[in-house]
Amino acid sequence: MHRTGAAVSGFSPGDRVGVAWLRYTCGHCRYCLRGRENLCLIRDTPGGTTTAGTPNSSPCLQSSHFLSRSYDDVELAPLLCAGIIGFRALERAAVPEGGRLGIYGFGGSAHIAAQVAMYRGVSVHVMTRSADARALAEELGAESVQGSADKPPVPLDAAIVFAPVGDLIPTALEALDRGGILSLAGIHMTDVPPLNYQRHLFYEREIRSVTANTRDDARTFMRFAGEHRIQVSTMRYRLSDADRALTDLADDRVRGAAVLVPDRKFGATIAR
Ligand SMILES: [Zn+2]
Repeated sequence: MHRTGAAVSGFSPGDRVGVAWLRYTCGHCRYCLRGRENLCLIRDTPGGTTTAGTPNSSPCLQSSHFLSRSYDDVELAPLLCAGIIGFRALERAAVPEGGRLGIYGFGGSAHIAAQVAMYRGVSVHVMTRSADARALAEELGAESVQGSADKPPVPLDAAIVFAPVGDLIPTALEALDRGGILSLAGIHMTDVPPLNYQRHLFYEREIRSVTANTRDDARTFMRFAGEHRIQVSTMRYRLSDADRALTDLADDRVRGAAVLVPDRKFGATIAR
């Protein structure tokens, strides 16, 4: 039987809801008070980074109210995780309207962020090693597509590195125009090689890292996804095949996002 608790508002029994990656923040540390709850000292995320004390703010449930029925559950899963973080990486890159954005690595997160950028009139240049990912970037309307460390055909106003490869950082910085911003979307990154001040940073080029997201990012992005049809490229795996999904990701065999589906639901129709 479906019920909502007494303190719940905005949801009705039977609604489809999603839980984004950032579930709780404390609401009173110096970061939360500055509107930077993604840096909260006691935030709680699935898979657990840091937890301490009793988180007291409400979990970030997203109501299907924001979402077009044109997304099924398997498409919504990457929107709630890869989609939101890619959206924050795009916001951190602060690409100007009508600007030129470079994207390094083109997986689950990047292919969604690229579409948001294109809806905003940004021209997107994709650098990636996988032939499948290059084909997907072309299908989605990228202005240019090339190998992972190739030079884009134009100087970039902003770039996002999605691949966890530190060697790409000087490459991406060199591709930036004066005043360009480089946003680093990953949680992990191999070591960054030494940078040359003149070649990589002078003329006010900037590097920004990205850590999780705020609930406001989640709401803004999910609303955007409800108003614009985003093509979500997914490969489905049974939950019991999670190891295979990870191996496929590592070997560039996943086009878009890998989504784990509970075994008992795998053969069933996916809900909209
Ligand atoms: Zn906090």
